[in-house]
Amino acid sequence: MNLVAFSIRTKGAHNFTRRLGTVFTRFGVSETPIRHALHSIIDSLRQYNAAPTFFIPAVVLDRHPELIYEIAHDGTEIGIHGYVHNDYRTLSKGEQYKQTEHAISVFQKNKIPYQGFRNPYLGWTEDSLDVFASLGFNYESNVAVLHDVVDLNTYSPLLQSGYAKSLELFQAAPCSIYALRPFFEGALLRIPTSIPDDEMLFDRLRITNPWEVGHIWSLVMQRVYDRGGLYTLNFHPERGDLCKSALDMLLSYARSRPLPVWVTRIGDVAQWWREHSAFRLTITSLGSDRWQVEATCTPRATLVARHLAVEDQPVTPWYGSDVCVQSHRFTVKATSCPCIGVSLQTPQEVLDFLYEQGYPVVRCSEDEAHNYAMYLDEPEGLGTTREKQAKLRNALVQQIEALDKPFVYFGCWPHDSRAALAISGDIDSVTVQDFFLRILEVFRHK
Ligand SMILES: [Zn+2]
Repeated sequence: MNLVAFSIRTKGAHNFTRRLGTVFTRFGVSETPIRHALHSIIDSLRQYNAAPTFFIPAVVLDRHPELIYEIAHDGTEIGIHGYVHNDYRTLSKGEQYKQTEHAISVFQKNKIPYQGFRNPYLGWTEDSLDVFASLGFNYESNVAVLHDVVDLNTYSPLLQSGYAKSLELFQAAPCSIYALRPFFEGALLRIPTSIPDDEMLFDRLRITNPWEVGHIWSLVMQRVYDRGGLYTLNFHPERGDLCKSALDMLLSYARSRPLPVWVTRIGDVAQWWREHSAFRLTITSLGSDRWQVEATCTPRATLVARHLAVEDQPVTPWYGSDVCVQSHRFTVKATSCPCIGVSLQTPQEVLDFLYEQGYPVVRCSEDEAHNYAMYLDEPEGLGTTREKQAKLRNALVQQIEALDKPFVYFGCWPHDSRAALAISGDIDSVTVQDFFLRILEVFRHK
């Protein structure tokens, strides 16, 4: 299927015709308008000591190497967005491998470092994960989390159906505490991305006021902050001016939260998550309801304590009634061990999962269960299918985050941050020519 047919199927004929009309206002025949849009986003983020992540198809990079080199040199992370802008769900595993390998060689030829892959249309398959892992990607960013913050009833049925088509295309999962965290599949890290994206708001729902979009993005930020997760915003820089005001509003909202929000690039999130998943807590009884806590972690770790008294180190207020402990070795007073007890028959994969989330774990028998903040007996492990695993992982994280007992754990983000915000965009085209070449390129690489 070519881009025209694909776009008509997914966007609807009227949306496609409308989009075509906007091409000439969003792109120029030169790189100037997009260069301007990219720099204005980079400048907005610089005020927060942060930088964006942009994904670009290899053929587009190959036509605009200086522009991409220029922004990469400025601190922007560049990721791979396919060899051409096609949907991997229409390709065999062999073809996915070949095209990904080609894309890598174009990035290498142009000396653009990369560590992540995001598919056009977020169109990943099980095969894609194997391909990304075998080609050595650090992460992929395709798992879409839906933030249900738009009141669709206020839009016409026609606009609602366009929005619904996007939802279907992106295979989005509902928002939950766990859905907002990165996760490992083998060696590959999967970093969730968020929808609605700019296209769904500006093009599908035809919101023309950037302040309205900024308000929606801020609502998403509030939800993510409350759940302590990652908000990966995704937009297309060709909507630069519209997105810029909305982006500035979001960034200023994030900064105004009571606790820090870590504004960062997706690649930095990936590196952090690998670092964080290796952290460990050792808790030893000192008798008389006192416990020695020893953290094995890097200096930027966030150490959180709940419902207990830290005796010998300073603490600062954190989220809810939790506090941050400003030391990696401290003594606490608590009526039970501030740790999760796990039964002897529970397989190691459950412990590994809990460690990855930053929770302290110790093996114990059922008789000792009452000595711990929580006791887990999961002899079947995390389940054999992707759906079962997601359900159980979700339930576990939710249960642990709601614990009403003495507990110590690592926060998800560095430097006492409550949440993380990664600003990302897909540079699908740089010029009008790129936009029309996409049709040919996708047709050639079916
Ligand atoms: Zn794209």
